[in-house]
Amino acid sequence: MTIDLDVDHSSPSDGLSTVQRRSAVLEELVHRDPGRFRVLTGDRPTGRLHLGHYFGTLHNRVRLQNLGVEMLVIIADYQVLTDRDVADRLTEHVEDLVLDYLAVGVDPQRATIFTHSAIPALNQLLLPFLSLITVAELGRNPTVKEEIAQSQQSSVSGLMFTYPAHQAADILFCKANLVPVGQDQLPHLEVTRTIARRFNSRYGGGLEIFPEPDALLSAAPLLLGTDGTKMSKSRGNAIVLASSADETARSIRSAKTDSHRHISYEPATRPEVSSLVLLAALCLGRDPRQVAEDLGGRGAAALKETVTEAVNAYLAPIRERRALYAQDRGHIRKVLRDGNERAAAIANTTLTEVRSTMNALY
Ligand code: ATP
Ligand code: MG
Repeated sequence: MTIDLDVDHSSPSDGLSTVQRRSAVLEELVHRDPGRFRVLTGDRPTGRLHLGHYFGTLHNRVRLQNLGVEMLVIIADYQVLTDRDVADRLTEHVEDLVLDYLAVGVDPQRATIFTHSAIPALNQLLLPFLSLITVAELGRNPTVKEEIAQSQQSSVSGLMFTYPAHQAADILFCKANLVPVGQDQLPHLEVTRTIARRFNSRYGGGLEIFPEPDALLSAAPLLLGTDGTKMSKSRGNAIVLASSADETARSIRSAKTDSHRHISYEPATRPEVSSLVLLAALCLGRDPRQVAEDLGGRGAAALKETVTEAVNAYLAPIRERRALYAQDRGHIRKVLRDGNERAAAIANTTLTEVRSTMNALY
């Protein structure tokens, strides 16, 4: 499948605002012709999904799926090992991710949900792809540097260093051209685009074997956690989708704010307060500036109360659906089996094409 997009790719190392502008153009193209797009996104099975996932990417996934875009969702189980020695409670975390997907509206009839380790042909793409990227390029990746700093390991494994190339295989095995992600993923998307471009020019002989996929950013590309850093499953700072209303209230009460009583929406200068305002606004479907204006001089306690009410009301139906799906683990296993089968068929086709292009079919 080769898909051409009318999007300017002339400046690959552009900043956040350029990607945001491009996301707006992509939105228009998707609405005009959803059939031109194939989406790949995914998550590490390191814990339950949180509001950063939801407003960073999950909400976009469901929206795109409902617009008729073909969707693949990867559960990146090998990637758990980038920053820890052992993938603890892996089966439980994988099943939790599937439950979260179903609860937010990912439809396994339309979307292919699969696990990384179950698709050998996808993983084999890593070998030629590693030859297309330099050690210096891998070493410059700011997200990998940040994750190394946060890692539970004292030294950097080969997997941590090379996982953006692995992620290129995740995206390109199905020739996805659209990747709804949070801001932390933008450097990885650049690695994928570089690998696609180099593969095409080195082996394609003028043909586009792989598309250069675009990131699709949401209105919340970097939601902060209760400690004021990126909300993450692994940092103990997340507001988890599946939590109870009380746990959610406790966690929002503990969120870091600042010493100014007047509430305003100024992401650059007041990141913690602004992230909370944004969260309330997203749940209420309102403009964050207006939410801040309404709160005015009522201070952080009132802000947190507003956020708690908005989040709990927004998540109530999602939590209800999750509890229902959780009663049928057999269904979860079947969703994964079916998804793995579909993904394996796509990966086998792509690997055959890659080997043929490289004159390696014997
Ligand atoms: P971990 O701490 O285990 O790495 P994580 O919370 O960073 O977990 P990932 O599985 O690494 O979650 O990320 C899955 C997807 O969710 C990626 O597209 C990522 O950009 C997006 N995402 C994760 N956290 C946030 C956030 N705080 N704001 C916006 N998007 C996010
Ligand atoms: Mg992460």
